[in-house]
Amino acid sequence: MAKRTHLQDSEPRVQDDGVPLEARVRAEIIRGAFPPAARLRMEDLKARFEVGFSPIREALSRLIGEGLVEFEPNRGFRVAPLSREDLLDIALARVAVETAALKRSIEHGDDRWEAGIVAAMHQYRRRSPIAFTNEATLLSWEESHDALHAALIGACGSSRLLALQRRLQDQHVRYRRLIVVKEVAQEVHIEEHEKLVELALERRSADAIAEIERHMMITVDALDQSSIWEKFGETAG
Ligand SMILES: [Zn+2]
Repeated sequence: MAKRTHLQDSEPRVQDDGVPLEARVRAEIIRGAFPPAARLRMEDLKARFEVGFSPIREALSRLIGEGLVEFEPNRGFRVAPLSREDLLDIALARVAVETAALKRSIEHGDDRWEAGIVAAMHQYRRRSPIAFTNEATLLSWEESHDALHAALIGACGSSRLLALQRRLQDQHVRYRRLIVVKEVAQEVHIEEHEKLVELALERRSADAIAEIERHMMITVDALDQSSIWEKFGETAG
């Protein structure tokens, strides 16, 4: 516990040694520091992250595989754009992955799995009222929300399903940020998750799966009700 204190505690976490460049760029894209479809110029990234060209190229190439970055010949890298069609695809894939993983977790989960869900729900609920105070509380609330979804499927026994869910969730966050969830009543958002937790703990597999399917459409519905797609010059497809 005796922690050295001579390091500057005020230094932003993103600058910590040991945080892979890829993770730092991913975080910046997800939180919107690089807007959708923005060009990612090597010179800018080099200055921002204080690293050389080849690690940047390597990190961006990995993020292409995650659907967060695109490469266009002659134009270079850019942040993957957002569209309704893409969001629907993410929702579809999340439903497939999370329902399969939840079903297996409900079948195989032990009391540690149950305790993990209860703890994650507690943390998410605690962070909800202050979620929109500032960027840090928003990040922390998002983390607790994502951790709750991960806890629900934590006993699925498949590292690949868990990794896929994480990746899809990262892609989903960019859309969730667009609607600024405070406009969707926080109470309703909490109730949604309470329901999901209750069904999982009661091992009501079919009902829990139906709830996940419904839950995944919240962002789609909220964005459809806004005028956001016009802003991106997109309609359904
Ligand atoms: Zn959720």
